Amino acid sequence: MLNFSFANSTQIHFGEQQISTLSSNIPTDAKVLVVYGGGSIKKNGVYDQVCEALSAHSWGEFSGIEPNPSYQTCMQAVELVKRDNYDFILAVGGGSVIDGCKFIAAAACFEGEPWDILAKGAEVNSALPLGVVLTLPATGSESNSFSVVSNKETNDKLPFATPLVQPKFAVLDPNVMTTLPKRQLTNGVVDAFVHTMEQYLTYPVDAKVQDRFAEGLLLTLMEEGPKVLADDASYEVRANVMWSATMALNGLIGAGVPQDWGTHMIGHEVTAVYGLDHAQTLAIVLPRMMAEQKEAKREKILQYAQRVLKLDVSKPEIAIEQAIEKTELFFHSVQMPTRFRDYQLGEEVADAIVTQLERHGMTALGEHQAVTLEKSHRILLQSV
Ligand code: NAP
Ligand code: FE
Repeated sequence: MLNFSFANSTQIHFGEQQISTLSSNIPTDAKVLVVYGGGSIKKNGVYDQVCEALSAHSWGEFSGIEPNPSYQTCMQAVELVKRDNYDFILAVGGGSVIDGCKFIAAAACFEGEPWDILAKGAEVNSALPLGVVLTLPATGSESNSFSVVSNKETNDKLPFATPLVQPKFAVLDPNVMTTLPKRQLTNGVVDAFVHTMEQYLTYPVDAKVQDRFAEGLLLTLMEEGPKVLADDASYEVRANVMWSATMALNGLIGAGVPQDWGTHMIGHEVTAVYGLDHAQTLAIVLPRMMAEQKEAKREKILQYAQRVLKLDVSKPEIAIEQAIEKTELFFHSVQMPTRFRDYQLGEEVADAIVTQLERHGMTALGEHQAVTLEKSHRILLQSV
């Protein structure tokens, strides 16, 4: 096992009616900016529950954070925070709203050009406190310190991370999932699955606890993923998917193990250039990334094949191929396409995305930094 420091300071309030805990989770003397997206929370009652819980607080709102939150929109919220002296941010939404709020919380306190936080990795020294009401289980952003923000003028989709934007608390009520479109449920299951794979399917360091936690998440997502898409999905199914997505990227399974993230880095560029949903890009790239890395990841793919997919691994070469195929079939089982051609894209993707990767210095991806631009190009071509 590798050395690590681990803490997850986000207080989770999980279950029905937990939105009401906002009243006591946010300091009563705080001036709260409630930030949300395109308005789904107004249709499904979440907004009303937030209003009720904040009845004793002083608060205002900012709406319009778009999927793949844009720098430009976030900066409008930063202006509002500064103008009206808000000192607490409450994100109500999915990963995009939460990521956007992390950037807003940091940019509002930043001296200098906030774009540098993303483009140059400029150090963040302070941030406003942030709380979350999660409406879409997928990214894990509700209890981690990562954020991804896009500049739509320059086709950049860039991450930043600092413990200063780790949410103070996150409310997870599985009932909010009942209004999610199937496409977003699918996205959530796939994103959580790939987060787990990017921390699990790496060269083995005999981290038995992390491996078995990760296997538990993969098994749960494979079992519950197809069920959560059914019209009559139960509360328990939704609860299991929601908690899996949080646990997949809250630092626990990634502590003390090598991490890959190559699929995510390529995926971010695909979203930046072609606008595919985040999880749609991951489902296209991961199977080909596994194939490209099958020697480097051999031992771990076999462990995955045996323990998660229950495959016979007595003929390893066959088991590895089957494991890759079954992973792709799992994506299909949750109605997720796995090819660029499913989005009317062809071989042109490879050159365009490699240009982006090069521009962003992503020339050596994966836990061994072994995925060169040439390999990324091959992965993309094979994914058509
Ligand atoms: P999202 O972009 O936050 O939301 C997608 C859509 O779902 C929005 O149109 C939203 O509508 C709608 N929606 C959300 N909750 C809903 C509900 N309960 N009922 C009906 N509609 C609802 O999706 P996401 O997958 O959670 O986030 C994706 C972003 O997170 C990407 O930018 C990705 O790169 C990033 N990401 C971050 C991390 C991290 O660790 N920080 C990890 C992976 C990915 P409204 O706008 O109207 O609410
Ligand atoms: Fe992701």
